[in-house]
Amino acid sequence: MTKTYSFDTLAIHAGAHPDPATGARQVPIYQTTAYVFKDADHAARLFNLQEVGYIYSRLTNPTVSALAERVCALEGGAGAICCSSGHAAQIMALFPLMGPGKNIIASTRLYGGTITQFSQTIKRFGWSAKFVDTDDLKAVEAAVDENTRAIFCETIANPGGYISDLDALAKIADNVGLPLIVDNTTASPYLCRPIEHGATLVVHSATKYLTGNGTVTGGVVVDSGKFDWSKSGKFPSLSEPEPAYHGLNFHAALGGMAFTFHSIAIGLRDLGMTMNPQGAHYTLMGIETLALRMQRHVENAQKVATWLEKDPRVDFVTYAGLKSSPYHDRVARICPKGAGALFTFAVKGGYEACVKLVDSLELFSHVANLGDTRSLIIHSASTTHRQLSPEQQIAAGAAPNVVRLSIGIEDAADIIADLDQALAKATA
Ligand SMILES: *Cc1c(COP(=O)(O)O)cnc(C)c1O
Repeated sequence: MTKTYSFDTLAIHAGAHPDPATGARQVPIYQTTAYVFKDADHAARLFNLQEVGYIYSRLTNPTVSALAERVCALEGGAGAICCSSGHAAQIMALFPLMGPGKNIIASTRLYGGTITQFSQTIKRFGWSAKFVDTDDLKAVEAAVDENTRAIFCETIANPGGYISDLDALAKIADNVGLPLIVDNTTASPYLCRPIEHGATLVVHSATKYLTGNGTVTGGVVVDSGKFDWSKSGKFPSLSEPEPAYHGLNFHAALGGMAFTFHSIAIGLRDLGMTMNPQGAHYTLMGIETLALRMQRHVENAQKVATWLEKDPRVDFVTYAGLKSSPYHDRVARICPKGAGALFTFAVKGGYEACVKLVDSLELFSHVANLGDTRSLIIHSASTTHRQLSPEQQIAAGAAPNVVRLSIGIEDAADIIADLDQALAKATA
């Protein structure tokens, strides 16, 4: 599909073609494991990456490829890989870049599960993360050492709704010759396209806004295709003969598609964190309404945050769309269509009042998810950020006295009425 269509049109059409066998207009669920080779030569050409085609669904599948193409178009990337979850996408993004002894610089303000993945689990691979407040640009630059291989942040940081200065971080990454990886889950490409701000790789939990209705666990990595993997000698898996793929030099052979092909040919092949075709189908359908949903999410979040901020039972609201937010000016530059629909607020009465509030809500669902059509709430300190130390909780914006809201697309007046009655009970 040509790039001349606008975002809203691409959200419906990119990656989708009438099915060549049946003419089916919606992308079919190709529920198949393998694909018949035309002949032995065809099979050999596919395995040698001399011809692009389907071999085995751990690597590629037509339904999953349609989703990869659509998210790639919406993010303005060169290539994309779908994965089994957002967390899988993060490992897949790091995999071609990292090796034992290598580290990444990660924002202190990340999804709780990501902080755990980066601070604990990746150590098993010999990788590590240095957590830095990415608003402190000098500290980011100072943390980079000869073993650093990437800088990682979230566009709209979970749970507080803080906005990362992608342009400034991209500039630092550029100065030190490293890729900037941006988790764009909470903004979605409708609100922000990180590649336009200098990101090298964009990762998504498709579980959230992309699918939009809480039915799928999935992830996507999008490559800008712009990073020079050969320049510094720091990314040998991409820029030197790769023993895991019969000595292929991916960057020399595939240029701007090196990362994407490496991720399929080695990452998906050997790590196996593949998205299933049914999940991809649901996400494709979800993305058809992404623009409409995000408009309503943002509109509702602005109304709810404005109402909460004026309420005497509330200590503070972190929504970057409020004039009182230190991130208010940054929103206009990074997310000009709105500050998202994810934020926290502090309830007077602390931990106890938060727990009571959560239990008193009727319309809101108390779940460990976000980006659903439904309004969701969670008390991060007792759930998603429970594994973190109190210092990490506060640094991540998940202090014990705050609850996180993911504002849905219901009628804003109904959302506010529910918060009103629950706040009355929580602070009685
Ligand atoms: C949910 C989430 C993830 C993890 O995604 P899963 O699909 O749950 O694995 C990563 N980053 C952010 C910002 C998220 O909200």
